[in-house]
Amino acid sequence: MKRTGILFFPAFDWSLGDSHPEREERLLYTQEQLFEEGILDLPQIKQFSPRLASIREALRAQALFPTPGMHTDSLDAHLIAAGSAILLGEAQVRGDIANGFVLVRPPGHHSGATVWGNRGFCSINNEAVLVNHLRAHLGIKKIAIVDTDVHHGDGTQDIFYHDPNVLFISLHQDGRTLYPGSGFVNEKGGPNAWDRTLNIPLPPGAGDEGYHYVLENWVLPRIQAFAPDLIINSAGQDNHFTDPLASMNLTADGYGRITELLQPDLAVLEGGYSIEGALPYVNLAILLALAGEDYHHVREPQKLDRPVLNLATLKPYIEGLRKQQQTLKPNFTIQNKAFFPKGNWIYSPRSVYYDTEGFQEDRHDYIRQCSHCAGAVYIESRRVPFPQKSILIRIPFQACSECEQAGYDLWDHLIHQSEGTASGLLQNQLHDKLSVWQRKEGLKEF
Ligand SMILES: [Zn+2]
Ligand SMILES: [Zn+2]
Repeated sequence: MKRTGILFFPAFDWSLGDSHPEREERLLYTQEQLFEEGILDLPQIKQFSPRLASIREALRAQALFPTPGMHTDSLDAHLIAAGSAILLGEAQVRGDIANGFVLVRPPGHHSGATVWGNRGFCSINNEAVLVNHLRAHLGIKKIAIVDTDVHHGDGTQDIFYHDPNVLFISLHQDGRTLYPGSGFVNEKGGPNAWDRTLNIPLPPGAGDEGYHYVLENWVLPRIQAFAPDLIINSAGQDNHFTDPLASMNLTADGYGRITELLQPDLAVLEGGYSIEGALPYVNLAILLALAGEDYHHVREPQKLDRPVLNLATLKPYIEGLRKQQQTLKPNFTIQNKAFFPKGNWIYSPRSVYYDTEGFQEDRHDYIRQCSHCAGAVYIESRRVPFPQKSILIRIPFQACSECEQAGYDLWDHLIHQSEGTASGLLQNQLHDKLSVWQRKEGLKEF
């Protein structure tokens, strides 16, 4: 029998404040709704218990700066959410379940390659930790992540931007009208992973019809062409018309259809802040669609009373966007530092705002251009206004020997000539080794 896994971790003791949208009872109503509907008694539903992710599992995907130890107290709930994603992902890959829904909080998709704290309610990127675990331990090579949260999945994009084996697709409300303000069609991936990032920013009020049109005509063909081993859905429920933070105006039924179209191997909960309103019903529709049950009877919490654009008006806009996306050519800047190993290093600076605590991260990213592998990555990061840098060096999965050596040379340089540097992380994905260096405590292997 086809089995759908479900894992609940409501994190009842973690919140960002009593009146904050990301608060303790966020999943309480969903849990009650699923019990009430008798979903958990269906023979094809299999329930799993959460587990904690280790710091090592987190570091495999993300650098926790300035030191991994500093974050541990505030990370428990986040590490359980990430560990739960790993647990259900493993169950799917091993064939224990056909698909699954990781119903956990806190969410993770705004948390990027370097982490100085919480942003957009996220500290650990649950999907990224899962994806790199499956690649390191279960031989999975190609993964598609489709982010259907109303906000751009900027953290997930950041982590996989240079990775040709991860296709990242984000559909979201246009960044000119919503946090985090990114996710435009010109963000298409790094030099070795060009066109492995696809952003589809939609106008407010796109509604079910507009959303389904984009999925059927743009997203699904793109996934099919990539032919991934696994499809993960970052399932944010904040597109619903009752959501207080956004205005896309989808219905619970519309969400069921999204799930039916995407056929994800695993859905991982992201946002969704209409806590008593939409969230329980949308989660129910998704779960029913995953289990192959009829979801059309799921009732809406109230009548749709917000404006929805009609498809005839929306279509030309979407087609224009697609043309713009497809005709865009790569335009990268080569900038080699004096100590860089041989090759062309593509440079891109960026600034990341941490809204929870209100500070800025200043980042300088360099990637070694390579036609044989994903390329070595060197990232300098600093929490403004502090002058000390922290550094992330990445040797990618299936690295070629030159990029592997480049990673070791950069790491060597960091340890021996560390003027102005507080700490560093070497993510050696090729050999699944993690090294942390701290000015005060020296070197530590994970
Ligand atoms: Zn969201
Ligand atoms: Zn290479």
